[in-house]
Amino acid sequence: MADSSASPFPPKPFEGRTALVTGGSRGIGRACAEMLAAGGAKVGVVYAGNTAAAEETVAAIQAAGGQAEAIQCDVTNHEAAAELVKKVVEDWGQLDILVNNAGIIRDGLFATMSPENWGAVIETNLTGVYNFCHAAIMPMMRARYGRIINMSSVAAHYSNPGQANYAASKGGIEGLTRCLATEIAKRGVTVNAVAPGFVQTDMTEAVRNAAGDIITKAIPRKRLGKPEDIARAVCFLADERSDYITGQTVTVDGGLTLGG
Ligand code: NDP
Repeated sequence: MADSSASPFPPKPFEGRTALVTGGSRGIGRACAEMLAAGGAKVGVVYAGNTAAAEETVAAIQAAGGQAEAIQCDVTNHEAAAELVKKVVEDWGQLDILVNNAGIIRDGLFATMSPENWGAVIETNLTGVYNFCHAAIMPMMRARYGRIINMSSVAAHYSNPGQANYAASKGGIEGLTRCLATEIAKRGVTVNAVAPGFVQTDMTEAVRNAAGDIITKAIPRKRLGKPEDIARAVCFLADERSDYITGQTVTVDGGLTLGG
C-alpha cells in the first residue's frame, strides 16, 4: 500500500495486474478496457457476439501499447463464465480486476412486458454478475487480493417508466454488491458498483434520437455522459489504493439525479 505522500495518479497504476471487462467491446465497457490497459493492466475484453467490435477494441488497445485479448462468452452461461475465469487464472497467473459491465435493455411498460423481456434483462444484467463474481471470488480470495466493480445505473434508484426489468436488475446488482463486499472484505477483495446516468453509447441511441436535446437540458452539467466519464470512476475503484472503499455505489451522472 502506497503511503500518503505518494502521487494519487501514478502513470501505470495497474502495471502487472490482470483484468476482465464483460461487455468490454463497446460503449462504457470499451472505455473501461482501454483505460485499464493504458494504466498497465492486461485486459480480457469479454463480448457476446459482435466479434468485429471486440477485435477493433483489442486492436485499439494494442496500437496504444497496451495488452488485451478478445474473449467471446455469454455472461448468462454459468459454466462458460466459470471456464473462462479458470483459464484466465491458469494462463495469466491471476485475476486482479473484474468489471461486470455487460448489460442490455428491453424496455416496455410493465403491463405488456413479456416473460422473455423480463428474463433476458435479469439473466444478462444480474445473473451475469452473479456468474462472473461466483467464478472470480475463489481465486481472488486465495490471492488475498481483488477489485470487483459492477455496473449499475441511476435506474436502480430513480424511476423510469418502461424499465421495471432494468431497474430490478440494477437494484439487484447493488444489493449483491453490498452483501458480497461484507462477505469477502477480510480477504482483501473489494466489491463496488458504479451507477452511470445517461451515457452516449449504442444502448441509448434510440432514446437520444427520439428525445433530442430534452435529456441534455435535464442534466445539470448540460452534457451527456461519455464512456470515459464512467471508466474514470471504474479505474478509481479498481486501483490498489482504493482498498478502504467497499460495498459502495458511485453515481456518475452529471448531477441528473440531484433533482435541481
Ligand atoms: P452497449 O450496448 O453500448 O454495449 C453492451 C456491451 O455488452 C457490448 O460489449 C455487448 O457485447 C455486451 N453484452 C451484451 N449482452 C451480453 C452477454 N449476454 N454476454 C456478454 N456480453 C454481453 O452498452 P453500454 O456501454 O451503454 O452499457 C454498458 C453497461 O452500462 C450496461 O450494464 C448498462 O446497463 C450500463 N449503463 C449504461 C448507461 C448508458 O446510458 N449507456 C446508463 C446506466 C448504466 P457485443 O458487442 O458482443 O454485443
